[in-house]
Amino acid sequence: MRDYFRNIYLTVKTIFIGMRITLKYCFARTITLQYPDVAPALQPRFRGFHFFEAEKCIACDLCAKACPVDCIYIEKTGPRKIDKATKLAMGGAMTRYAIDYAKCMFCALCVDPCPTECIHMGNLHDMSGFTRKDMIVEFTELAAQGLQTPQPLWMTKDKLPDWAAAKKADWESFEFSTDGRDEEDRRKEMVLAMTERKPAKK
Ligand code: SF4
Ligand code: SF4
Repeated sequence: MRDYFRNIYLTVKTIFIGMRITLKYCFARTITLQYPDVAPALQPRFRGFHFFEAEKCIACDLCAKACPVDCIYIEKTGPRKIDKATKLAMGGAMTRYAIDYAKCMFCALCVDPCPTECIHMGNLHDMSGFTRKDMIVEFTELAAQGLQTPQPLWMTKDKLPDWAAAKKADWESFEFSTDGRDEEDRRKEMVLAMTERKPAKK
């Protein structure tokens, strides 16, 4: 009998706690962000579309194996390994590195196993398309254009709000890569990642 009344008490109490939170938000001031004119309010640990350093990828497939939904596609012409002198991947050509964002859960499980730390979660949140195929990002094709991450369509326009222009500049100057490599040198190496190469002679 005691448990019976205790359960009733706990039920009423938890409903009251839940409703108190709901009511608080019912009367809270509504905030509308005028996105994309105003920057979206993303949390510091937000996980967005990846940025990928093609020049360091050895196409080892560890990220693809760790992915719970099998949405990473990797193709190469031969084994690749890091050249100790340059810290760049050499060997076979990287012919494809793609992620299907129609399946990706942004769980970041692909990031930790990477032995060369070349795949990272980025801070881009916006991508739209008309077909499922549009949601597959070909990172090797981006690398050929000197990009590490896909950009939303509106970010490719000439006139951008200040916050978006700053973000675009960060991406274009490889702000998220922390190995201190020079911009021009990195662009060159990104393109060379798609060709077969031998390690530099000492
Ligand atoms: S974030 Fe998760 S789901 Fe997306 S590619 Fe990485 S491992 Fe796969
Ligand atoms: S991103 Fe990293 S884990 Fe994935 S294939 Fe390239 S080197 Fe291997």
